[in-house]
Amino acid sequence: MKKINSTLFAAALMLSPATTSAQSDTADNEKKEAKKADQEVVVEANDQMQFNKKAFEIKAGDTIKLTLKHVGKLPKIAMGHNLVILQKGTNLAGWASKAMTAAATNYIPVDEASKKAVIAKTKVLGGGETDSVTFNIKEAGEYQYLCSFPGHFALMQGKITVK
Ligand code: ZN
Repeated sequence: MKKINSTLFAAALMLSPATTSAQSDTADNEKKEAKKADQEVVVEANDQMQFNKKAFEIKAGDTIKLTLKHVGKLPKIAMGHNLVILQKGTNLAGWASKAMTAAATNYIPVDEASKKAVIAKTKVLGGGETDSVTFNIKEAGEYQYLCSFPGHFALMQGKITVK
């Protein structure tokens, strides 16, 4: 048991630079655009593995501030939730299955195609936590979002209609 613990600790240390840079990217985006959101959307996620919104509508080109609130009580390791918006036409199941094994990068796959498919993403949250992200989508159409925590996307997904 002791040996397993120290291995995990070492792995966590090695992985932390990637985590830090992913978070600062998000912070930069927020700084640039946080001031003038045209629309705010709040999505709640709970301990029953559900988003409270399965669909919402935005206008093409509008700056959207999206807030994810984990309204449950379970810790991140047991019931982590994020919200990832994918490019139109992305194979949701295929993307999610790659995400499942990407714990080191907060369940965002590291291959170029999968990274390119991400329009916006929140942090992975535990119960009681909140994170916001600002984005815009220029091209009208239907886009999907999901929670990429392992095993969640089948229940935790939704659709954004961009008009
Ligand atoms: Zn989830």
